[in-house]
Amino acid sequence: MNTIYFDNSASAVPFASALGVFAETAKIYANPSSLHSSGIAARKKLESARAQVASAFRCRPDEIFFTSGGTESNNTAIRGAARKNRRAGSVIVTTKAEHASVVQTVLSLSSEGYEPVFISARGGVPDLAELENVLRSRKVCLVALMQANNQNGAVTDLRKVRDCMNASGTGALLHSDCVQSFMKLPEQFSGDAARCCDTASVSAHKIGGVKGTGALFVRRGLVLPALITGGEQESGVRAGTENLAGICAMAEAVSRYGEAEREKVAELRRYIIGELRSELGENVIITEPEPHVDQLFNIALVNVKSEVALNYLDSLGVCVSSSSACSSKAKTNTALAALGYGAEYERSALRIGISPLNTKEEADLLVSALKGALAFKIKGR
Ligand code: PLP
Repeated sequence: MNTIYFDNSASAVPFASALGVFAETAKIYANPSSLHSSGIAARKKLESARAQVASAFRCRPDEIFFTSGGTESNNTAIRGAARKNRRAGSVIVTTKAEHASVVQTVLSLSSEGYEPVFISARGGVPDLAELENVLRSRKVCLVALMQANNQNGAVTDLRKVRDCMNASGTGALLHSDCVQSFMKLPEQFSGDAARCCDTASVSAHKIGGVKGTGALFVRRGLVLPALITGGEQESGVRAGTENLAGICAMAEAVSRYGEAEREKVAELRRYIIGELRSELGENVIITEPEPHVDQLFNIALVNVKSEVALNYLDSLGVCVSSSSACSSKAKTNTALAALGYGAEYERSALRIGISPLNTKEEADLLVSALKGALAFKIKGR
């Protein structure tokens, strides 16, 4: 049975060229920190990957630090920025719609005397009036708000967040989890994270690279304490011999993810949503926040439990998520609840994640499988 994979927001199908680069670069055994010619050659590859990622993020290469992924980048940024900026205050503002690697990190800082303040994020976008209120009334060291929500793809305008912070006169730093927005944003938002944030996180396996690699943007001039201490790699921000193969594969994925890929994803999204509307009618609720990233959207099959639909789809080889992969084992999905769609919707929510490698034929199979799942409606409804 062929796999029809529409769970690309949990982990995307890697580009063949990124896998090729990974395999080739894994053969380079020299340490990029070694001073002999082989080490220098490895270092050159590392720096060229850094330049590639920086250019996509629209920042300088020395503002990019490689990590093991989005989770580590969020941990490093949030712990580092909060500790660095303690003098500005002890309040950290975020939302419950953030990824667990943000929410749990903020909560864990309570043991060091920091106070989390969760503002609302109905529909996946933070309430900026609430943000301004907290910034004006409390001493805030850090604001952490994601750029694209991982449950429904809603995009937060980071320029508005920055304007709100500037207007309040806060000394807080701004961190953004850009894991679901990196390489996927509509043009009008490109470069916003580097322009508006002090720190931002990205991950390779969401863009067609391999797992276990990510990057952290740190605005020039801000020196963060290392989360992982040891050697002087990554300018002392992240110790440990660099994962050269993963990093070079990430750079390759970045170079492969262009306008044509974004357009292909947008077209597939329009097609799937159109087909769902015409084939399933009122049996499906499709949430389409504006603005959004095209590669992911959330739906609910009316009166069909998510896990039942998921199992049925899986039996046909069709993969989607019932929620973000990182909270799929949690009893309740607080990040989804934070969007405010209500308990009935949450019980039936499914996340579709599209990759530029998906095809229209696969989209047809997805839609027909979702239609088939309607046979599992809760009885009596
Ligand atoms: N942030 C968001 C919004 C995500 O969707 C994810 C992964 O699902 C992460 C962070 C974690 O990234 P990683 O899997 O690279 O640790």
